[in-house]
Amino acid sequence: MTRWAGSNSFDLYRMYPFITFRRREEIHGEHIVKTADLTNQRTLKTEIGCTGVALHSGRKTSLTLKPAEENTGIRICRTDLFNGAREIIVNWQTVVDTRLATTVGNDHGATVGTIEHLIAALAGCEIDNILIEVDGPEIPIMDGSAAPFVFLIECAGVLEQNSARRGIKILKTITVGNGQRSLSISPSEEFSLDFEIGFDTSAIDCQERFFARTGENFKSDIARARTFGFEREVNAMRDAGLALGGSLQNAVVIGDEKILNEEGLRYGDEFVRHKILDCIGDLYLAGGPVIGAVRASRSGHALNNELLQAIFADDTAWKDVKVASNGKAINI
Ligand SMILES: [Zn+2]
Repeated sequence: MTRWAGSNSFDLYRMYPFITFRRREEIHGEHIVKTADLTNQRTLKTEIGCTGVALHSGRKTSLTLKPAEENTGIRICRTDLFNGAREIIVNWQTVVDTRLATTVGNDHGATVGTIEHLIAALAGCEIDNILIEVDGPEIPIMDGSAAPFVFLIECAGVLEQNSARRGIKILKTITVGNGQRSLSISPSEEFSLDFEIGFDTSAIDCQERFFARTGENFKSDIARARTFGFEREVNAMRDAGLALGGSLQNAVVIGDEKILNEEGLRYGDEFVRHKILDCIGDLYLAGGPVIGAVRASRSGHALNNELLQAIFADDTAWKDVKVASNGKAINI
């Protein structure tokens, strides 16, 4: 074995990068050797912020995204609350509500809702560690999509850290839901998502779309898809004191079989693309990228979280892996 690490090894590494990568792992044990195959955790280069309207309260809300140490994951700090009660760890275990949006909370009762579009942007930009500061109980809705958050992340820049990126590789098929709505994940070399929706209105009807990550296609194909709702539901929510910040500036609204937004849709199938966006955000609460093939039929926030609970309830359904730059698991 030692001859691989000797002075002749350089050319061998170049000629047989895969073989030498494994050899170097054997020689150095758990020490991570940086190669083109491995990818490291990422955070922001610098902090960046914005203000926007909270969807339900209608309040103006400030949001700041800050770099965070490696292996600290995604955390939210409610800057309007006192120290000790204001930090919320963001993962599938801290989800406290999935009606209308995904809401996370801590043991002190502090919550932050409508996190999924921001989390989807973090997933799409492959950000592992970040501190999100917000001065209220909701992430601002912005334009109803993940695109403004992707823009913020790009403006701040991305910093590669020293630890290897970790992911969750699916080892067996897990399914949740019932006949009407279902969500399943099966073993696969990489993450993919096949989503179908069906609505009883000609404005949406049935839409199906397949998404697998290739380069920047999250940004181009998914990030700009906006949330949507029906005019009658929006009116009912307003009567209940919800969706007070909702407007045609931050949602596609459907009334009487047609879209009320004058500018029309951003994509012909914007609705299913937004459901993919939501699902990507919700599944990123696994604690890293999930490596498996997802099939979704009329799934939503509740089912997305239920799937993560079902995966982690079964130790034989998943394993913690290091992630390669192509999104696949590295088998060491
Ligand atoms: Zn959404």
